Amino acid sequence: METREIKKILVANRGEIAVRVMRSAREMGIATVAIYSEADRDAPHVHYADEAVCVGPPPSSESYLRGDHIIDICKELEVDAIHPGYGFLSENAGFAKAVEENGITFIGPSPASIEVMGDKLAAKNAVEDYDVPMVPGVNHAVTEAAEAREIAEQIGYPVLIKASAGGGGKGMRVVEAPEELEEQMERAISEATSAFGDGSVFVEKFITSPRHIEIQILGDKHGNLVYLFERECSIQRRHQKVIEEAPSSCLTPEKRKAMGEAAIGVARSCDYYGAGTVEFIVDADLNFYFLEMNTRLQVEHPVTEEITGVDLVKEQVKIAEGHALSFKQEDLKIKGHSLEVRVYAEDPTNGFLPDIGRLQTYVRPQGPGVRVDDGFEQGMDIPIYYDPMIAKLVTYGDNREMAIERMLRAIKEYRITGITTTLGFCAYVLKHEAFTSGKFDTKFVQEHFDPEVLKQKDPVYEEIAMAFAAQLVDQKQNQSAVNQNTPLSKWKLRARG
Ligand code: ADP
Ligand code: ADP
Ligand code: MG
Repeated sequence: METREIKKILVANRGEIAVRVMRSAREMGIATVAIYSEADRDAPHVHYADEAVCVGPPPSSESYLRGDHIIDICKELEVDAIHPGYGFLSENAGFAKAVEENGITFIGPSPASIEVMGDKLAAKNAVEDYDVPMVPGVNHAVTEAAEAREIAEQIGYPVLIKASAGGGGKGMRVVEAPEELEEQMERAISEATSAFGDGSVFVEKFITSPRHIEIQILGDKHGNLVYLFERECSIQRRHQKVIEEAPSSCLTPEKRKAMGEAAIGVARSCDYYGAGTVEFIVDADLNFYFLEMNTRLQVEHPVTEEITGVDLVKEQVKIAEGHALSFKQEDLKIKGHSLEVRVYAEDPTNGFLPDIGRLQTYVRPQGPGVRVDDGFEQGMDIPIYYDPMIAKLVTYGDNREMAIERMLRAIKEYRITGITTTLGFCAYVLKHEAFTSGKFDTKFVQEHFDPEVLKQKDPVYEEIAMAFAAQLVDQKQNQSAVNQNTPLSKWKLRARG
């Protein structure tokens, strides 16, 4: 196969991931083009890029999702390749196809791979012959409550009704008992229809106390595939991750290998190339079951980069150019331990509702073993239109304990006022015995988190409580200034109740 050198990349995304991608491009000597909506004129990704073009008004449907505009910009600026980041157009097979048809390289898998893996049912069917363990359930869309009830009786309650097109933790309903089934099914269908424009749902066994463990894979266009070990992502709220780490503290080398090989099976089932993630849930006995494959760079990819020394974005670019992978499975080793906490503009004491507003103070932590991937500067507003993630704080250490200590130190150094964030909550988790002992699952928040602890004066959590109180005081002091300059957003008013 011929290789095709990439000299200029347009990043079809915003925020931290746009900057993250451009950093690797710059190190590779590749020119960068940013796109931005009217809400993001002054955002760091716009300043970072060599060139930047406005794609439209703030709503994503009129800007970051305008694939046609984005392709036109590429032609005008003689762009060779598009990197889609995550979210937005990253898992849109139609867009990937249009990009390639216009002679532009899509930095990602083939449109066919995206299409199969983007649909949870199609994915389950595709992997059937590849020896991949599956959650008990059905492989087809279920439309009638009567059929759902029959399936639930067979596999046993609780069951999970899930949107085939689901993503970002949306379109999922747990059913504990037969009498709830009909109502929950209707809700799942309506949520899936409004969020994804596709109301197909299916039924699978709800594993009561699982861990979410996923495998990073890389494949080239010559059929070589490797796995870059696991990421533990069990600390979640609303079925969405908030703390991740690599490696997982519960896997044995044998289990790691078995999961890695199963992930490669999933990738082979759709002739995958590029970077991808195969997600599994793991029960208390370490039985693992395939959940889905994400056909893109994942939010939490930095922890894998830290423990393997591989720059996943550079690998994506080289694969897109047509190069064979420069390493084999046996060349890859885990070194040390890495943690990531997602800094969301959300209020943990108010059901993790978005708390959008202005970053009055924003000072990043620094020092050994600390990496901050973010897309904001002090004084900026967090727009209501997009994901409320401000930053990803990543630490690295020789072992898990050191990575945790560094994270707690970095959280203490992080100064954010004007907005309530998930930082205090993350410090709480990192100090909790269930987390430090490694004995936790996806129910951590439900079982161990009492929002009151962030407000009270327990000596163990004092610094967390103090950080939290400081945010509130600062917010109050700045309230008048904020009110004069910017009207409080609807999000903010809603979050305040
Ligand atoms: P990851 O699995 O990489 O941790 P998340 O589930 O947190 O990713 O989602 C990453 C981003 O992509 C978020 O902004 C989320 O809202 C968005 N996202 C993920 N899947 C979808 C989807 N199917 N449709 C729309 N947005 C999605
Ligand atoms: P999404 O596309 O929204 O990321 P996933 O299938 O990856 O959907 O599931 C997201 C999260 O929901 C998982 O990390 C896990 O916490 C929970 N989950 C999904 N399926 C199950 C299941 N069968 N049993 C228990 N928890 C599940
Ligand atoms: Mg998922």
